[in-house]
Amino acid sequence: MMQNLYDFTLQELTEIMQKMGYEKYRAKQIFDWLYKSRINSMNEMKNIPEDIIEKLKTDYDIFLPEIIKETKSETDETKKYLLKLKDENRIECVLIYNGERITLCASTQAGCACGCRFCSTATLGFKRNLDTGEIVSQIMLAMKMTDNKLTNVVFMGMGEPLLNRDNLYKAILILSDKNGLNFSQTRITVSTAGIVPVIKEIAESGLKINLAISLITADDEMRSKLMPINLKYPLKEVIRAAEYYNKKTGECITFECVLFGGINDSEKDAINLVEKLRKVNYKINLIPYNDSLNKEFTKPDDDKVKKFQRILKDNGIKVFIRKEKGADIKAACGQLAAEG
Ligand code: SAH
Repeated sequence: MMQNLYDFTLQELTEIMQKMGYEKYRAKQIFDWLYKSRINSMNEMKNIPEDIIEKLKTDYDIFLPEIIKETKSETDETKKYLLKLKDENRIECVLIYNGERITLCASTQAGCACGCRFCSTATLGFKRNLDTGEIVSQIMLAMKMTDNKLTNVVFMGMGEPLLNRDNLYKAILILSDKNGLNFSQTRITVSTAGIVPVIKEIAESGLKINLAISLITADDEMRSKLMPINLKYPLKEVIRAAEYYNKKTGECITFECVLFGGINDSEKDAINLVEKLRKVNYKINLIPYNDSLNKEFTKPDDDKVKKFQRILKDNGIKVFIRKEKGADIKAACGQLAAEG
């Protein structure tokens, strides 16, 4: 099987070149071609002698996932891409336009093992982790699609990023390497269902990314019903991990609360959040539920969402309502199911 050049850090590429008997600086040249010139074929690496290119080509390629389908929203500028990986697994990623800001919502796994009841990706079950190159290549593809104007990356697509920690870390290090794309870690957000030990690890990792946690509700029992992962990493531990993250990094955490009609959208639910999160430095993104494949949930009333926001605001909490983007093409949060 060919190896993808997007799989390697500059350090690793250097080792590869040295092992092949070439000079170190060749790795830097290749890294430049990949991430500064953003070429798609090794033939374009003009300052690398042909014999080296030919030898490289026997084991390595530059793999971008194949776009099987591009769907454009009619209500906003959102675009969804259905992508095919080398082994035929399919993933989706989404480009979201917001003024000057262009955000890629990228996937980290094919399918997902978390089984959140309200999320369409869960219905696929878990297929496999994406490798580093598959994560990096989604961003490189987005660079191409946006004429290099991509400004932000959120790992909120398919999968649970923190259950693919090693490949995610490496992809972030490659993308943010100053010798290459130099995509600032501060423009990268990782969203998790709450994998407690890995939240703690990220706190200690020195990464400067933004962390978002899908808290959903501050009621432990309800959270378990909505998100089975809560049985393994219960609310209390998630909140403790968030406090630890604050302390170690000095950074604020974003809690994402998908609001469902009649389930977690009451005044009591809002007050419960305020009370349980007293010791955490956070802001909240309220996400009115988007229709998923599970028909038991409904959207909350607009005025309920506003009231929920009001209560949080009155308690001094920074709170935003996430505007639904791309719902008409099933590209909004929780709607990615690679249906084609
Ligand atoms: N596994 C990660 C990232 C993928 S989900 C996580 O759980 O955070 C990305 C975001 O979409 C999460 O905040 C999740 O709570 C939200 N989401 C999932 N299903 C949704 C739905 N049907 N409507 C609105 N948001 C949803």
